[in-house]
Amino acid sequence: MPGFELFGELERAQVNDVLDNGVLMRYGFDGMRKGHWKSKELEAELQESFKTNHVQLVSSGTAAVSVALASAGVGAGDEVIMPVFTFVASFEAIMMLGAIPVLVDIDDTLAVDPKAVEAAITPKTKAVMVVQMCGSMGDMNAIQAVCDRYNLLLVEDACQAIGGSYHGKPLGSIGDLGCFSFDFVKTITCGEGGAVITNNKEYYIHADHYSDHGHDHIGNDRGAETHPFLGYNFRISELHAAVGLAQIKRLHEFLGIQKKNYTIIRNTLSQIPEVTFRTVPEGGEESYAFLNFFLPDLKKARKVSEMFKQHGVDACFHYYDNNWHYIRKWDHLTNLKSLFPISSEVKKGLDYLKTKEFAQSDSYIARNISCLIKLSWTEEEVKERAIKMVKIINEIL
Ligand SMILES: *Cc1c(COP(=O)(O)O)cnc(C)c1O
Repeated sequence: MPGFELFGELERAQVNDVLDNGVLMRYGFDGMRKGHWKSKELEAELQESFKTNHVQLVSSGTAAVSVALASAGVGAGDEVIMPVFTFVASFEAIMMLGAIPVLVDIDDTLAVDPKAVEAAITPKTKAVMVVQMCGSMGDMNAIQAVCDRYNLLLVEDACQAIGGSYHGKPLGSIGDLGCFSFDFVKTITCGEGGAVITNNKEYYIHADHYSDHGHDHIGNDRGAETHPFLGYNFRISELHAAVGLAQIKRLHEFLGIQKKNYTIIRNTLSQIPEVTFRTVPEGGEESYAFLNFFLPDLKKARKVSEMFKQHGVDACFHYYDNNWHYIRKWDHLTNLKSLFPISSEVKKGLDYLKTKEFAQSDSYIARNISCLIKLSWTEEEVKERAIKMVKIINEIL
């Protein structure tokens, strides 16, 4: 997945272009910048690539999720439904707004189960946030239908799935708002950065103002701008956008390499009847950022994960035992460890986490191994790796 693996002259030229003109801020300084607008250029590229009307770059993927929710009016006391399998950023972004994350089970797509989403809806539910984990998606038509039926906002965290699609639509462009991350380990990197995409003009204007202190961005005199509402600073810098601009031009190349490497490993692992793969819904096309497969049980998955590490099969994760991506290890959330006081409403809203079990998700995550697909491998390396993986798995089965 990581764009940083293939990194060089193009990125350097873009960054030097910014340094040579001296304006590192994305807004204003019109006279000084001599027509250099890297952030605007990257927004235009993303708009084109993701077939969306509006793009707002921000400082990170986590900021993108918060800004997306805020732009659609999600705030204090609102409930946002999200999966138990994601990155910790998902609930951070919700809680930053004083809203309540309502965690629900995933299914064999490794994304939220539409039935679990529907069962979690209360009068306080405002939004459903799907996470397109490890480059693939859930049953988006079913999830969209639930959102339509209950008049809920659909937000897509597509931070790990840039380049994937569903019935021809790019992941991120299906819901009311979509979020991307361009941190250092994502398919396209800016170093740090993120984007909110939407077809809703009002949400876009909100995102534009909110991510820059509420400034209205009208006219050329920044000091004369007014503030229709309160905002924060989630701006991206021109230096970061410059890196992203070089990378986005290579997205197709990166995706092609990912798919090729993924396919070699998958075809090789397919020789083992006990190995099954995550379900990709009909009409779905993965970004091929990860290859996710299931082993028969937890014990075998643990053993395989251990042996992969011992034998140098790097970048494979057993998320059941991983501290970052699955609820089982999110003690700081379930026991609510905060640096500062949290509202009693949010505290009460999170009480369910102390007792709720997620047996259905456990049954998938316990058996799942997720292998990052790297861009820098040679064909020889991919083939050797695949053969090594088969050997290890066969030994353990
Ligand atoms: C990386 C990631 C984020 C957060 O992105 P940052 O740019 O690191 O803040 C959010 N959600 C998912 C699923 C991610 O993988």
